[in-house]
Amino acid sequence: MSIFKRIELPCPTCSSPVTFELVHSVNADRRPDLREAILAGDFQRETCPSCSFRFRVEPEFSYIDIKRGQFIAAWPASRLGQWQAHEAHTQAAFDRAFGKDAPPEARELGARLQLRAVFGWPALAEKLLAAGAGISDLTLELAKAGVAREMDDAPIAGPNEMRLLRLDGDDMVLGWVGTGNEEIGDMVGVPRSLIAEIEAEPGPWEALREELSAGPFVDLLRTLVPGDEPAA
Ligand SMILES: [Zn+2]
Repeated sequence: MSIFKRIELPCPTCSSPVTFELVHSVNADRRPDLREAILAGDFQRETCPSCSFRFRVEPEFSYIDIKRGQFIAAWPASRLGQWQAHEAHTQAAFDRAFGKDAPPEARELGARLQLRAVFGWPALAEKLLAAGAGISDLTLELAKAGVAREMDDAPIAGPNEMRLLRLDGDDMVLGWVGTGNEEIGDMVGVPRSLIAEIEAEPGPWEALREELSAGPFVDLLRTLVPGDEPAA
């Protein structure tokens, strides 16, 4: 079931109230249109009736896609500084619903689901895009580390994160996206074959692979952001 809750938020431009239907959970098997909306960047985005400004509410819901084997806890980008606590919370909730603390039938389903925690819309869309294209999200993070290493002028204007934005033929289009503001900066095209190359020669990547897969927050940011800020 995809459960919605109706709320009103002030428009950031003119303060007029704008109505949003927020979700508690998204079931992509039953609502493939919601998956498409997340990929398109339209999900939970509304237009202010007074000034036509378009804005969206940060994600805070669980996402399940049994067909593609995904279970994702999506958190607002503003909670990135507390990723350690959110990762633990994500794991505990999954264990109760589909893991070691769940009934046998649920555990059976859970065994086919890959658990992830993400912060912000670009990170969520990236997980959906990668799974849809048959790209391991863990290998994708390793590929990003490799790309960042080879670029000596990675943009450092404010907090940003490298995200897979789309696939373009045989290329993966990676871009630097502002954390929180979602502004897209520089983009690079990287051959998709880089994923297979990394998987064919795992040796040099072993340490980083282990670090990135230590919990459900499978993201290069876990090596860059301490993640132990107290909750606001
Ligand atoms: Zn407005």
